Order: sequence, then structure tokens, then C-alpha cells
Amino acid sequence: MSRSAVPASVRRDWGEDDEGCGILHVDMDAFFASVEVARRPDLRGLPVIVGGDGRSVVLAATYEARAFGVHAAMPMARARRLCPQAVVVPPDRSAYTQTSARVMAVLGDVTAIVEQVSVDEAFLDVSGARRRLGSPTRIAAGIRARVRAELDLACSVGVASTKSVAKLASGMAKPDGLLLVPRGATVELLHSLPVEALWGVGESTRERLARWGILSVAELARTDVAQLQRIVGQALGRHLHDLAWGRDPRPVVPVRQEKSVGAETTFDTDTTDLAFLEARLLELADTCARQLRRRGLQARTVSLKVRTADWQTLTRSRTLGAPTDVAHEIFLAARELLAGVDLAGRAVRLIGVRADQLSSAQVRQPTLDEAVDGPGRRGAEQAMDEVRRRFGPGALGPGTSIGGEVTSSTTAPRRADLS
Ligand SMILES: [Mg+2]
Repeated sequence: MSRSAVPASVRRDWGEDDEGCGILHVDMDAFFASVEVARRPDLRGLPVIVGGDGRSVVLAATYEARAFGVHAAMPMARARRLCPQAVVVPPDRSAYTQTSARVMAVLGDVTAIVEQVSVDEAFLDVSGARRRLGSPTRIAAGIRARVRAELDLACSVGVASTKSVAKLASGMAKPDGLLLVPRGATVELLHSLPVEALWGVGESTRERLARWGILSVAELARTDVAQLQRIVGQALGRHLHDLAWGRDPRPVVPVRQEKSVGAETTFDTDTTDLAFLEARLLELADTCARQLRRRGLQARTVSLKVRTADWQTLTRSRTLGAPTDVAHEIFLAARELLAGVDLAGRAVRLIGVRADQLSSAQVRQPTLDEAVDGPGRRGAEQAMDEVRRRFGPGALGPGTSIGGEVTSSTTAPRRADLS
């Protein structure tokens, strides 16, 4: 969300009651630029821009530089024109990574339930820490004081009952602030915002909604869900309607504890039937993807495990172009890996799929394809999660998710050349 999405009138005190507001969103202010200022005190108070030469973009800018209209992701040439007196500092990624680790260590002292979202941002669930450390607001103030004292850096903290509102609140608290959104004020706050303030509404979604005259969160909240789903797709329509009413059950997921998800299956009879193996891969990919979605995670790497009848175990893995929680994408990678395995005619006894390099799944902006064709496979698979949740796990098989390209085979394996 851009700061401009929140009108100044909304940046006010929303109350003191932090009961049930166990979620904190901590966001470093102008992170890279602030790290530079912290180690070069002569820069304090000056417009500072972190960025490279030539055709690169602004990576970070101090608030002094932002006052001239400079912001992150702006072309450097334009930033220099807007603010010729700015001190331009080349990026030092290792310094930012080290400082990030120190910030996350401070957060880790508060609770183990820390979900790092990016180099300078994290969610914490402090609902279990009240006895030990005090109320959520007090914990948030303590974090800000410690980061300031130990790292000479400012962070802003949002305190709320849900992740999306905590994130909204930290953005509204900037710079160097703390904002509590009491549970009872959540809907009023949300309904005072333009629609693009919602976490998950990017430019294309905003435009679609605007075409239907839905400009504010209040208007979105009053729109019939089915109508919203026609405008932005099944899953996103439901999700945004929930967010507009302050409903966001997503938990804070301590990402580092989970390194991978996976599933494997051993056959009753060893097989060389490629179509049969691919059908099993599809089921396994579907299991992996559902585990990922249930935990709010996405995987960057897909691995295939094949054990042959003579007990040789082969593993192959592939890094995807982008993290995913979509069964179809995991399946395609696994199928490609299987095609690359030379089984030399041996039958297969076990096959497995694993997804690793996990990160927390943000509410994704639709891809270009989705913007053109609707929510696509991810939306379809999320819709099926919902069907399974309501009607039980047997309600749908993975074959359905693939649109008939491959369907689970219950017939006896046929012979096929696997080499
Ligand atoms: Mg930040």
C-alpha cells in the first residue's frame, strides 16, 4: 500500500484498548537509507538516496529526500532531477542483510512466532506473551525502543487483531510511530479508507473495482460477494470482502521452522507405466500444494524422489521461476524431472514430491494471465480447498484440478518405456 492511499484524516488515535490485538507488524523506516545514516552520522538530516548509477532505480530514500517527491522504485535519473542536492549512496547489500539479521534477532527475543516477510518487515504474534512481557502495545513500544537503542534505527509498528490491519497500521504509523487499531475500531477504520489501502488490492484490481464504481472499502464491503467475485474472481472476491469487514484469519507463521512439505507413495506392485506414474505425481503435487496453502506458504524448489525396484533412490530438483502454492505448477516441474530420470528399464517402487525453499505467501497480485483470463488455476485450486473443507477430502480428486490433462488412473498399469 502506498502511503498516499491513506487520507490524513484517518491517521488519528483509534483508542487504547489492545485486548485481542495480539498481532504486530514491524516495518523498518526507509531501511537501506537509515542503515547508511546510522553508520555515517554526517548524513543525518540530509536527503539521502540509496541507488546505483545509470539506469537503476531508487532502492531507498530518507524522509528528507521523500519531501522532494523521491520514492523507492523511481528511476535514479528522475530522483536526481527532483532532488539535485541529495547525497547518493551506492547500495551495500551485505550491510543491510547483517542489520536485518540483528533486527530479526531483537524480534526473536520477544516471541518465537515471528514471520519475516522481507528484509525489513515482520509479523509477530504476541498474544501468548502478555503475562511475560505485558500488553501488545507495551511490547510494541519495547521493540521500537530496543531497535533504536541497539541499532540507531527507527521502525514503525502496527498493533491489531489481524495481519492485514496490523500491516495497514504500521504504514499509517510511519515514520517512527506506533499505531494500535483496537478490535472494536477495525471496521470503522477500514471503512474510512480507499479500496487500494487494502492489502492485496494492486493497480489492476483497483482499476477493475473502479469500473464498477467501487472506490472505497466501505463500498466494497457493501457489495454483494457474488458480484465481487464476478469482478475480481472467486477467491480474491471472497478474500477482499472478508478483509473489508476485518475478517482475516491468517495466522502468523514462523517460516523458518518449516523447511519443506512433501508426500510420497509406495506402490503395491512395481511399475514401469509412465502414465500411471504421472497420475501419482499429480496426486502428490496436489497434496503438497494443499499443505502449502493451508500453512500460507509458497515453495521455490520442487524435488522428485524415485526409488526403483532394486532399491536405488534417485532425487532430482528444480528451482522455479517464482514461488508457488499451485499444484499444477508443482506437477509440471515434477513431471519434467521424471522425464529427465534415466531408469534404464527398471520398474519403480516408490515416487515422491517435495517442495522446499519455503516463504510465506503474501496475498498475491494477479499475474498478467490472471488479469486477462480471470484468477486461473490458483483461484480454481483455492476454490477446491473450500469445497474439500466443506464436503470432506474425498469431494474432489486432484485429476479435476488439471482440467482433464491427466486423470488419476485406477486401471492396471500399462507397460511404457521410462528411459
Ligand atoms: Mg520498510
